[in-house]
Amino acid sequence: MEGSASKNSERSQATSNDGCPKCSYTGTLNTFKWVQPEGYPIPYQVATVELCDCHYERQFRKYNATETFTPKEKEYTFKNAIIDDSNIEQYTVAIDFVKNIKQHMEDGMWLYIFGDEIRVSEVSKEKGFTLEAYGTGKTFMMQCMANAFSHRRIPAIYVTEESLFGDIKATYDKGSEESEHEILNRYYNVPILMIDDIFTAPYKEWAEGKLFSILDERQKKNKVTIMTSNYALGRISQRLPLNGGKIASRIKGQSILIEMIGPDRRENKRTA
Ligand SMILES: [Zn+2]
Repeated sequence: MEGSASKNSERSQATSNDGCPKCSYTGTLNTFKWVQPEGYPIPYQVATVELCDCHYERQFRKYNATETFTPKEKEYTFKNAIIDDSNIEQYTVAIDFVKNIKQHMEDGMWLYIFGDEIRVSEVSKEKGFTLEAYGTGKTFMMQCMANAFSHRRIPAIYVTEESLFGDIKATYDKGSEESEHEILNRYYNVPILMIDDIFTAPYKEWAEGKLFSILDERQKKNKVTIMTSNYALGRISQRLPLNGGKIASRIKGQSILIEMIGPDRRENKRTA
C-alpha cells in the first residue's frame, strides 16, 4: 500500500516551493462550471475557485489531530469500538459524520457529543432502569474520529479544554515563542477543532470570554467544531453565567447532537 517511490515523489512535489503542478502552489484551482438556471434556455459557464488537494495536505502536516495521542490512543478506531444496542445509533451518527466530512467542512457543521447527569436521572426514571452519564465513551468516540481524520490526512486539532486554556495562558509568560494572537488564530482557523470535555474549566470571565470568541469565530468562518461535554444544551448557561446562553444557541444552531447515556464502559478499560 505504501508504495515508497510514488509516496516520495508526492512528498517532494508538495514540499518544494514551486511545487504542486496542479495549482502552481497557490492552493486554489480556478475552474469553470456549466450552469443552467431554471427558466433559462442555454447553459453557460461560470468561473469558480476551488481548494486544491495540496491545500489540506500542507495543513495536515501542521495539524494532525492524533499528534498528542499515546500509542494506545492511536489504536482507538471505529473498527475496534464496542458497539452494541445501547450505542449503535450514536455510533452510526459519528461514523456518518466522518464519512461526510468534506461536505461538513464546506457547510461548517458541528458535532456535540454529550451526556448530562441531570438528563440521565430523568431518563432513568422514565425507563425504570439506571443509566450513566459518565464513562459512556464520549472521549473514546471522539478519539476514533480523530484517528479516522488522521488516517485520511484531514487537518484537525484535538485538545482538552484544559490544555486549550493552558496554551493561551502560556503566552502571557515572558519569552513565550507564540503570542496569544497566534494561538487564538490557530483555534479560529483550523479546519476541524475537537475540544474534549468542554465547559469543565473553573470559569472566570477570562475563560468564558476566550471560549466564546473561539466558537463565535469558528461559526462565522464555517469551520467544523466537535465537542464532548457533560452538559445538555439547556444547562450550559448554568455553567457560564456571562456567555453561556450565546454559546448554547450557537451550538444548537450549528450542531448535530449525539447523546451518550448508557452503561458505564470504563470496566472495559476502554474509555474515560
Ligand atoms: Zn495544489
